[in-house]
Amino acid sequence: MTSLIIRAKELLENKTVQVVIGYEAGPTGVARPAFITDPAKAESLIYDERCVQNLAVYLTKREVKNIGKMAIVATLPVMRSIMMLISEQQLFADNIVVLGISADGKLLDIADNKVMQGYIEKSDLSNPEKYKGLLTEFNKLSPEEKFLYWQKELSKCIKCYACRQACPMCYCTRCTVEVNQPQWIPVKANTHGNMEWHILRAMHLAGRCISCGECGRACPVGIPCHLLTMHLTDQVYNYFKVYAGTSEKMSSVLSTYEPNDKESFII
Ligand code: SF4
Ligand code: SF4
Ligand code: SF4
Repeated sequence: MTSLIIRAKELLENKTVQVVIGYEAGPTGVARPAFITDPAKAESLIYDERCVQNLAVYLTKREVKNIGKMAIVATLPVMRSIMMLISEQQLFADNIVVLGISADGKLLDIADNKVMQGYIEKSDLSNPEKYKGLLTEFNKLSPEEKFLYWQKELSKCIKCYACRQACPMCYCTRCTVEVNQPQWIPVKANTHGNMEWHILRAMHLAGRCISCGECGRACPVGIPCHLLTMHLTDQVYNYFKVYAGTSEKMSSVLSTYEPNDKESFII
């Protein structure tokens, strides 16, 4: 995409940023993340249908942050992740330049976070169309059927944590699964422990998941774990009328309340 290359080159040449996070074609043609620090290498940036990874996951990595100010190629899920990371004080707005990409693959002019917020507000923030059908079918199941479905799916989990690593909201330096005093979640992959791990992760993402689908895409054994967090996204919207990643001043849904909040879900 020529306009993206020109803009990235310009930002690196005039030293507005020290690194551009984007996509490049790997040796087999598959798109992979690129961390461009040299303006001469900006030519390798691509943006097309192969570029699906949520690059915001790198914004909290020390190795990347230490390079300096960052620019990032950002589709809607990346922009929403940036908003969440700023609202959770994991990222400073002044440390990021957003190279926004529209739904039809065009470079957007995102001058600042206010402009980005305006773009997000105008977008459809519900779960992606390709997952809505599955979620609707899933909602038709009885609680027992749902439990059996997840028990079967999660019994395949090998606890590799690729789902966590792919998620921009799972930035904890020490995840709860790595805490061993006390050992909250069993180290071994077994049905009971796997359930605990996924319930824990889903609850940690409730009201924070921006529906990128990366956790499910990363799973090597094909567990659709993104459906758990996306289901909670629907629930949070139904109860509180908010979607994650819409403002840099978002309050955490699960740790704030209004005196007139509905309590019908408290058993
Ligand atoms: S869909 Fe998965 S990877 Fe994406 S924000 Fe939600 S929990 Fe994280
Ligand atoms: S699962 Fe929870 S504790 Fe672990 S990285 Fe994600 S948010 Fe943090
Ligand atoms: S990526 Fe898949 S196998 Fe690995 S921990 Fe997550 S759900 Fe389990």
